[in-house]
Amino acid sequence: MDLGLKDKVAVITGGSVGIGLAVARGLAAEGVHIAICARDEARVQQRAMAIAEDYGVTAIGIGMDVTKPEDISSLVAATQAQFGGVDILINNAGTGSEETIMDAADEKWQYYWDLHVMAAVRLSRSFAPMMAAQRGGGVILNNASICATQPLYYEPIYNTTKAALVMFSKCLANELIPKNIRVNTINPGLILTPDWQKTAKILTENTEQSWESYLDNIAKENTPIGRFASPEELAHFFVFMCSDKASYCVGSSYYVDGGWLKVT
Ligand code: NDP
Repeated sequence: MDLGLKDKVAVITGGSVGIGLAVARGLAAEGVHIAICARDEARVQQRAMAIAEDYGVTAIGIGMDVTKPEDISSLVAATQAQFGGVDILINNAGTGSEETIMDAADEKWQYYWDLHVMAAVRLSRSFAPMMAAQRGGGVILNNASICATQPLYYEPIYNTTKAALVMFSKCLANELIPKNIRVNTINPGLILTPDWQKTAKILTENTEQSWESYLDNIAKENTPIGRFASPEELAHFFVFMCSDKASYCVGSSYYVDGGWLKVT
């Protein structure tokens, strides 16, 4: 199926590893030019170089922190200078947390609010007018989580900020559809990325269980499908949602979770 994405331009936050990198590579395979960003500048630049080599598209890697408004301004300026416009924005940068509500400090709440919500607000506010004026429309995808609906007990700050991202996405979709910008949320389930490995290692530290068996148990206990997805499996859905084949998909949340979500 030709998705009609060739020569579009996509910005993917947190594109240096895990889901973001798989989405960047999936889009590049369709001929999309790529800007990926992450805090580790050397890694993100190296990954961009590899994307350009592997798929013959233009790809740039930008070292920045999405929680910092000044870094967002630099990202917008760099992509505008390189590509002269943007068609697709994927708000993906994020990470799990571990705390109790009783113990977590305000600063931690604020950091995750900036990471999962304000980054998407600021980036959308910057890129949407460019999409409308320079491209006649575009696509914004927000990567939330099944935890926005069905929380995991050990990460209330993650659950709460991802739920806020889903509502932001719904409101933004209503505001931007008259400008031909389609906004949606994707709520992944268990995707085997370094972030999960990091969480498993933290939770099994000082226990007799290995982090690998911890992850295997989680998949078997929670998902009807009984396993984690690869980032690439999830990326296929992101790529489809970026294309005009998803033209009637507006303001929704799509679960890619191996059947994990219980009835809501
Ligand atoms: P990874 O930890 O594998 O990758 C996270 C990416 O985000 C990296 O590129 C990281 O690079 C970047 N990043 C993190 N913080 C910042 C920041 N402040 N500024 C800029 N970039 C940042 O995570 P995943 O691929 O697992 O997760 C990606 C998204 O998917 C997250 O939003 C996560 O919540 C969501 N998700 C993941 C699921 C899973 O099972 N893996 C399930 C549901 C949702 P660097 O460290 O260099 O900044």
